[in-house]
Amino acid sequence: SFSAEAVPQAPEDPLFGLMAAYRADSDDNKVDLGIGAYRDNNAQPWVLPVVKKADEILRNDPALNHEYLPIAGLATFTSAAAKLILGADSPALAEKRTCSLQTISGTGAVHLGALFLSKFYPGKPTIYFSNPTWANHNQIFSNVHLPIATYPYFSKETKGLDFEGMKQAIADAPEQSIILLHACAHNPTGVDPTQSQWKEIATLMKQKSHFPFFDCAYQGFASGDLVKDIWAVRYFVEQGFELCVAQSFAKNFGLYGERAGCFHFVTGSGTDSQATIGRIASQLAILQRSEISNPPAYGARIAGLIMNDEALFAEWEENLRTMSGRIISMRTALRSKLEELGTPGTWNHITDQIGMFSFTGLSEKQVLKLRGVAHVYMTKNGRISMAGLNTGNVEYFAKAVDKVVR
Ligand code: PLP
Repeated sequence: SFSAEAVPQAPEDPLFGLMAAYRADSDDNKVDLGIGAYRDNNAQPWVLPVVKKADEILRNDPALNHEYLPIAGLATFTSAAAKLILGADSPALAEKRTCSLQTISGTGAVHLGALFLSKFYPGKPTIYFSNPTWANHNQIFSNVHLPIATYPYFSKETKGLDFEGMKQAIADAPEQSIILLHACAHNPTGVDPTQSQWKEIATLMKQKSHFPFFDCAYQGFASGDLVKDIWAVRYFVEQGFELCVAQSFAKNFGLYGERAGCFHFVTGSGTDSQATIGRIASQLAILQRSEISNPPAYGARIAGLIMNDEALFAEWEENLRTMSGRIISMRTALRSKLEELGTPGTWNHITDQIGMFSFTGLSEKQVLKLRGVAHVYMTKNGRISMAGLNTGNVEYFAKAVDKVVR
């Protein structure tokens, strides 16, 4: 029988524990390199100017109300979100073989996809994650009882992609496995395959009839170019894969707390693909209904307004370049400070890696020492959020790293 007393204590979420420790630290020099949220050069949250503008337009709209959205979400938002992923001229869109449901940000999209696959993918397939991956992937897919395995991804030697290991694991996985792929700006490593490596991955996956599950949390945030960052997903669609995409607007719109996201399913181009996608959409709607009934409106309204207006869209692209540009300049600054200091080791990976995060190669011991001695907060795996660095603290951080590495 159920005993409330027998429920064990769950471990603390490591990232949110780190944030609490940072807040409690009263040192003036403290540096927060933990959480994956953009900060401006003054270490402050940044409301994108285009988001501020859209917010104002919405607030002044006398027709705005607080009715429920449809189960699948705000249609003007989901259709713009699909175009952003697939391209406005995508044959998959023209042939109406895609469906899109608004979700509780990227997390909700990953969950909806996981739930759908656990219910409709025959034979309890194993889902393969990169090692390492966003820690929440494990929890989300375990919750729906899909068996989990990993493929090698990060090479400790080069601090780049372990491409041979990755390919071997994909080739060795049982046919029709699900392979989770980060569309760009891999979290936590910052390491992405090149376009020619993506092509090889696609070929291998096709040979083995694997199912691609793309997690796309950083489109436009990695390179500053929305099209460049989504290249891999569009390539897989072109190659005729049936696949799904979990899309987050948390980072690229700075809408973290508004929970704007979307889940997309794309079928192959068979004769009955429209009927197929109709059935898939109907099942996704039932799952959505049972889980959240209706998605939250405000973030989707903001993102939808911007994506559907040419001038606002152009301003958004400018804002994206501001964020990605600042991060790229911090990568350059950190690498050159470390090289100036003659810090033991090589530091090219800091500028080779891309997006919000960098896997520094620092050991857990060094990470803890950095926290104790220099009040620098980062996850134990040596990951830093590049957005936590700015012109005021990058030298301080480089000097602290130099000290603990020696
Ligand atoms: N997937 C990856 C790889 C992420 O890094 C994140 C956020 O950190 C997410 C999904 C989902 O984030 P959110 O639910 O805030 O959109």
